[in-house]
Amino acid sequence: MVPDERAAPAPRARLQHADIVHFPVRDGELVVGGVPLRRLAARVGQTPFYAYDRGVLRARVEALRAVLPQAVRLHYAMKANPMPALVAYMVGLVDGIDVASAGELKVALDGGADPREVSFAGPGKRDTELWQAVASGVLVNLESAREIAPLAEAAQALGVQARVAIRVNPDFELKGSGMKMGGGAKPFGVDAAQVPGLLREVAGAGLAFEGFHLFAGSQNLSAGAICEAQRQSFDLAVHLASHAPAPVRLLNLGGGFGIPYFPGEQRLALAPIADNLSALCDRASRELPGAQLALELGRYLVGEAGIYVCRVMDRKTSHGQTFLVTDGGLHHHLAASGNFGQVVRRNYPVAIGTRAAEPQTQVASVVGPLCTPLDVLADRMLLPPAGIGDLVVVFQSGAYGASASPHAFLGHPAPIEVLV
Ligand SMILES: *Cc1c(COP(=O)(O)O)cnc(C)c1O
Repeated sequence: MVPDERAAPAPRARLQHADIVHFPVRDGELVVGGVPLRRLAARVGQTPFYAYDRGVLRARVEALRAVLPQAVRLHYAMKANPMPALVAYMVGLVDGIDVASAGELKVALDGGADPREVSFAGPGKRDTELWQAVASGVLVNLESAREIAPLAEAAQALGVQARVAIRVNPDFELKGSGMKMGGGAKPFGVDAAQVPGLLREVAGAGLAFEGFHLFAGSQNLSAGAICEAQRQSFDLAVHLASHAPAPVRLLNLGGGFGIPYFPGEQRLALAPIADNLSALCDRASRELPGAQLALELGRYLVGEAGIYVCRVMDRKTSHGQTFLVTDGGLHHHLAASGNFGQVVRRNYPVAIGTRAAEPQTQVASVVGPLCTPLDVLADRMLLPPAGIGDLVVVFQSGAYGASASPHAFLGHPAPIEVLV
């Protein structure tokens, strides 16, 4: 990574696609992890592929640590990107890994994660998964009273403690989130009102209570909304702690930190969040002595470090509109096609990586090879004139890309993922 090439874009309140992107261009070509794109494609051996840049991952974690209070633990929620090599790399950068299935647990442990620093959330955990969690020694975020009996059985049978935190479904939500995971009727966590009763059951079953987990929402770009949810989460945890069988050792305040995808969005302001967390750390030393605060971040850590690359296979004109038909599409990158929870389809930042320095003089749509009108990566975007063989790059693709897409749909080859 050459630092000055990845210098922060000029501050602009409302971002444009060009401001969102932060991979350097050399000799007209995009460079990923120091490797020019065409060469990287040759190294991978096929298109389409995802590439994740270690330097960008590391820089993101370091930038967060530079502003957040040191006492706040930084967890990676690996649902955002479970590629084993990337998870193993993140293990070396963060303080803990949050998993949401036994499959993810395996990848985290294979990647060298310390089981004491792994937590396992998710509704509907199977008994086998709960046994695996106890055997591994990880913290289970309880989502239901149903999980207590199998955990206690596993602990008894294996002669080890079952470590638990309670995932609380709070009565408030994270305002303005892309996806809401708390507030009102939800399959996630346990309603705050039911938590005191659940804590009695946890104590009765002899489980080792360690704390609370609150996750109110995702993809939020408002520091004010995040700070408010953090304060509300803290207040709720203090209230519930009075019912707990043991002191709170870990308070996981969730995350929800968003990244910009679309023109007009703003980068999340970290300074107010850092101030807010400092104040909460002070309060924790008095109101929850011995408790550590944690954030669990997914896309904020990895989303901007990844690109999706596909090749132009055809260039067509229909009723005056230009179509660049590529070998990649929604089967690899559902989110960029606008079909992963978006209400209105908007274009992700897309570029012609092999013509990165050429002026954008043509309007074209980038589509995939699937026989469905949903298979659109860019709808009528201003791009440099591109032809067969050029490489199309979709930025902001490090999270909810490969693993969140229906690879089998229409039987095309799966994408390859590389860490560069
Ligand atoms: C999905 C999820 C995350 C990660 O969300 P991001 O938007 O990627 O930061 C964190 N915690 C829990 C409990 C989740 O379900």
